[in-house]
Amino acid sequence: MVHEIGHMFGLKHCIYYSCVMNGSNHLEENQKKEMELCPVCVRKLHENIQFDMLERYNALAEVCNETNSKIFKKDAELYSKISDLIKVAYGKNYLSKGGSFSNEETKDPSNK
Ligand SMILES: [Zn+2]
Ligand SMILES: [Zn+2]
Repeated sequence: MVHEIGHMFGLKHCIYYSCVMNGSNHLEENQKKEMELCPVCVRKLHENIQFDMLERYNALAEVCNETNSKIFKKDAELYSKISDLIKVAYGKNYLSKGGSFSNEETKDPSNK
């Protein structure tokens, strides 16, 4: 399901990591698939739809916390950790860019 949504947002099958966008040919393979996008696909998805990376992980952590289930507890911790890492890594820089990562090397409209 998440996999199909990935296609909707322009993601192709993933060959890099164990990832929700790994291709699958039959149901059995489908069922042991990952629930999460790997770093490569998250980055690609971000390129495509420009979501707020920080908000994403905050929201994921929130959802996992709300379920109050042990299974999701670990996920919630992981997502908050990632959210913290983003804050540390991008800090002011992240906020000043309106919650969007920019890649100066590949796209800089003011530098033609
Ligand atoms: Zn597919
Ligand atoms: Zn992937």
